[in-house]
Amino acid sequence: LPPPPKDAPVGRIDDGTFSAYAGSQRFDQLPVSQKTKDGLKDAKFTKMTEIQRASLPHSLCGRDILGAAKTGSGKTLAFIIPVLEKLYRARWGPEDGVGSIIISPTRELAAQLFDVLKSVGKHHNFSAGLLIGGRKDIDTEKEHVNDLNILVCTPGRLLQHMDETPNFDCSQLQVLVLDEADRILDVGFKKALNAIVSQLPKHRQTFLFSATQTKSVQDLARLSLKDPEYLSVHEES
Ligand code: ADP
Ligand code: MG
Repeated sequence: LPPPPKDAPVGRIDDGTFSAYAGSQRFDQLPVSQKTKDGLKDAKFTKMTEIQRASLPHSLCGRDILGAAKTGSGKTLAFIIPVLEKLYRARWGPEDGVGSIIISPTRELAAQLFDVLKSVGKHHNFSAGLLIGGRKDIDTEKEHVNDLNILVCTPGRLLQHMDETPNFDCSQLQVLVLDEADRILDVGFKKALNAIVSQLPKHRQTFLFSATQTKSVQDLARLSLKDPEYLSVHEES
């Protein structure tokens, strides 16, 4: 682990080992694996954005996150990094199956974040799949879905697998991400999300990111998060 930055503020007592990383400005100051650091470096990510600075010291020590920050503020890396680290620290391997599910409101957004996952995670050995419906044949997907470590999905397609795929197994799930939660709810996926969350194991880490904090986002947060760290970032400094 890198030494904590000299000007790091002292964290709360229950922050544990990683409290000292609260003042980090750059990704290479964080307690993340060399594989993740190399992926970030290759993609030319150096300095953290505000939502990343605020959330990563907490998410990397195992906490649930309820994060609100406007579009374009860098929320994707704020959850992709701790997803990779959680599985890496658990020594997750091909035979361990689905370890993380990332839910995104639309096919386009899911495909974009899948690209970021592939890029930043390229030095890791995890398998990942994009389950978004459309042109892709679900029958082929059904045969492979249990072999994937990280699923990036739209709510409809994930629910379809939960309902129809024989032996679909997410009983070992470590991390759930609800990305752009306000938009997921806007496009009418509230029921689907409730159904999905109710079928997932309760012992897990959950990140909920959203551009806005609406009443329905708070309802979803109550249903899906445990003692979350509330982080709201309004303006980039
Ligand atoms: P959001 O989900 O909050 O709308 P994204 O995660 O899609 O934002 O990021 C928006 C843009 O900012 C993307 O082009 C991304 O590559 C870029 N970006 C994210 N984090 C950083 C960073 N730490 N340094 C430089 N660019 C970044
Ligand atoms: Mg986003």
